[in-house]
Amino acid sequence: SVPNPGECNLPDQDAVFSEPPAAPSAPPPPPPSLSEDKILVSVEVLLKPSSTARADDVRSAVERMLEKRSMSYTDGPIPVPLGDAFLVDNVERICICDSDVWVEKQDVLLFWQVKPVVHVFQLSEEGPCEELSNDGQLASFNEWILPAKEFDGMWESLIYDSGLKQRLLRYAASALLFTEKGVNPFLVSWNRIVLLHGPPGTGKTSLCKALGQKLSIRFSSRYPQCQLIEVNAHSLFSKWFSESGKLVAKLFSKIQEMVEEENNLVFVLIDEVESLAAARKAALSGSEPSDSIRVVNALLTQMDKLKSSPNVIILTTSNITAAIDIAFVDRADIKAYVGPPTLQARYEILRSCLVELLRTGILSDSEFQDGDFPSFTSLREQLNSTVIPEAATRLNLCKQLLAAAEACEGLSGRSLRKLPFLTHAALANPFGCEPGKFLHKMIETSRRECSEI
Ligand code: ADP
Repeated sequence: SVPNPGECNLPDQDAVFSEPPAAPSAPPPPPPSLSEDKILVSVEVLLKPSSTARADDVRSAVERMLEKRSMSYTDGPIPVPLGDAFLVDNVERICICDSDVWVEKQDVLLFWQVKPVVHVFQLSEEGPCEELSNDGQLASFNEWILPAKEFDGMWESLIYDSGLKQRLLRYAASALLFTEKGVNPFLVSWNRIVLLHGPPGTGKTSLCKALGQKLSIRFSSRYPQCQLIEVNAHSLFSKWFSESGKLVAKLFSKIQEMVEEENNLVFVLIDEVESLAAARKAALSGSEPSDSIRVVNALLTQMDKLKSSPNVIILTTSNITAAIDIAFVDRADIKAYVGPPTLQARYEILRSCLVELLRTGILSDSEFQDGDFPSFTSLREQLNSTVIPEAATRLNLCKQLLAAAEACEGLSGRSLRKLPFLTHAALANPFGCEPGKFLHKMIETSRRECSEI
């Protein structure tokens, strides 16, 4: 039991067990619920391309700014305060991100529940550095410096309602933390291989790139440099097999070099891994030279070697689940099925398209300002409510959007993102189009697209 400091005279080393006597002038300690159990929420701060400010200085300035604000924490931008010249000069945007990763089903996080974790970053504008094969034609791999300008906003644009993104982020964060803390892999085993599989066009490749980008921002204080190597397995194997062996060797010696630098975080994205299995199967049936088996095996061995490096994450995708080489499937720690978008995801994807068309003035309407379209959940609530909404025309438009999302069943995310463009191109009078007509046409277009699958 805890001794009462008022009753016994404790020696100093035991002071930790006792409540210190309250000094009359000391401020009262915060209630435990305010000082502990705070929810960590990421605040991403993008520096301007021209900024040369130190990340630490910007981080402190943003932390000070956040301390002064009593606001709720939901995903989205926070305006850069105009009175803060240092931030105005250096910062392009401040965003609260993925506030739903660590809490479930909680709509609004209030400032006192939150401990903001500020990540400051600048985008690389270098673009991909292509490695050409010896014949100088097809690139066998691309290299990007992360965070890259090309992948900015990609994570946010991918919509899944199954908690997939949150799961991936948590998984990768745990994997990097275990490594960082030096957890013994013989006692607790984990690896850093992710496999996303599912039909084409469901966003698997984009999700891998976006995950790399997110992690490069989140872990920038531990890993100040970060690269993504994108390998197309199909292009590795569609060449002469004698060439493939050399390509694999060249690729992995390059990766090994990057990994040896311990401040580097390296993502290796292997797209269409099913072609590994296909190459092996073809070799077994005698329709391809047995060289291909050696190449596949060499690739798997190289991947195993890489596994022992703490600063590599291997991201793989496959369009067919059944055909993936079993040896490969065993290697992946997280295997996530990425399916066609659900009704909710379809609505949200189309909604984001419409918001963009309104923002750019392709669609014009006074009812909907930027971002004014209700989310799927709030639309559902409105439709179930018995109260007649004030803006009936507005609700009708949302119903039309819902109808369009319903009509798109079976379309991939990729097709959905093209649908508004196809709709616009199909309009008789595409100028100054109002949303009602547009949505009507979109339903028609989506029916046509679905019938052509
Ligand atoms: P995959 O690798 O599964 O074939 P991609 O990553 O090439 O798919 O996806 C192509 C594009 O389709 C993405 O860049 C994105 O614009 C769109 N897309 C696919 N799925 C989704 C989704 N769930 N949410 C939003 N956009 C999506």
